[in-house]
Amino acid sequence: MSKTASIQPAQPSVPRFLASDNTSGICPEAMEYIERANRSDDLAYGNDQWTASASDRFRELFETDCEVFFVFNGTAANSLALASLCQSYHSVICHQLAHIETDECGGPEFFSNGSKLLTVAGENGRVTPEGIATTVTRRGDIHYPRPRVVSVTQATEVGTVYGLDELSAIREIANHYDLRVHMDGARFANACAGLNLSPAELTWRSGVDVLCFSGTKNGLAFGEAVIFFDRQLALDFEYRCKQAGQLASKMRYLAAPWLGLLETGAWLSNAQHANSMAQRLAAGVQSIADARLMFPVEANSVFLQLPAAAQTRLRALNWTFYTFIGEGGVRFVCSWNTTPELIDSLIEDIRQALTAVD
Ligand SMILES: *Cc1c(COP(=O)(O)O)cnc(C)c1O
Repeated sequence: MSKTASIQPAQPSVPRFLASDNTSGICPEAMEYIERANRSDDLAYGNDQWTASASDRFRELFETDCEVFFVFNGTAANSLALASLCQSYHSVICHQLAHIETDECGGPEFFSNGSKLLTVAGENGRVTPEGIATTVTRRGDIHYPRPRVVSVTQATEVGTVYGLDELSAIREIANHYDLRVHMDGARFANACAGLNLSPAELTWRSGVDVLCFSGTKNGLAFGEAVIFFDRQLALDFEYRCKQAGQLASKMRYLAAPWLGLLETGAWLSNAQHANSMAQRLAAGVQSIADARLMFPVEANSVFLQLPAAAQTRLRALNWTFYTFIGEGGVRFVCSWNTTPELIDSLIEDIRQALTAVD
């Protein structure tokens, strides 16, 4: 390769996807189980063998007799789970960057018939016990929607995680004020991988009542599992799902790929791979002046502060990324099929984009 070629890389004609982990395709394990489920007919509406097996596998994975439901996407999972924890006059305490607040089009409020979200600030995307206490005690009168739930996102919207101590502290304050704990686990597998802790440790053993576990961002075509550790809270949940248009008629095609992730261990290896690609990117940009990491990289997302001109150059090179999350920084998200070569070419392009605008 000539020198000029390496200084002026040809502009790739196809987009290079690191905008989110939902730009990736279906992982082979999920595909394989869709194929298997398609070899014979089965009962509808979740009465099939795949749904039963996947639910049992979740119980094994979480080491407890939890209630498991399958829905199509995260907005439905969060909205319906929160609705089952609240009366309409209750409220949900969450971080100001929480997906339920910023990206679900009022779904949680709609499905709960009006339960209000009360947002709190918190460093590195995390809700703190102090934030919760302040919000609960700000008012005690009948004119304020009564706090009933704390919602935490694991991993957070800015790619950090809640450790066991943080989760326990949240549970403690939740007990004090009689609050339930909901976990938006859009990147739950990445949190387990990042912390090297078991799903049980990071949920019910730390006081989580209900988890929305994303399969979509872990390698499925679509599908999330809503997992109730407090079975009482799951009362009539199947009716909520049906009414909300979330009861899949051919449920086996939602459940079978989940079984693929769980039986093969791909749920974890996919997340470990995604996290390691994020670490590779973080390490690679560490040496580049002007490319500042905005948050600790603890899962599969990397947030960078980059000058606007450098962002424009990266877009011209067909890199895809979002800038609206995490106070205007640039977000790159790695997934199960992100390659080291892709990450290395991004690091090189960031370096060049910054040199060019110096
Ligand atoms: C992706 C995501 C969801 C789910 O989004 P849907 O588009 O509704 O599937 C929920 N929470 C967080 C933090 C997410 O990143």
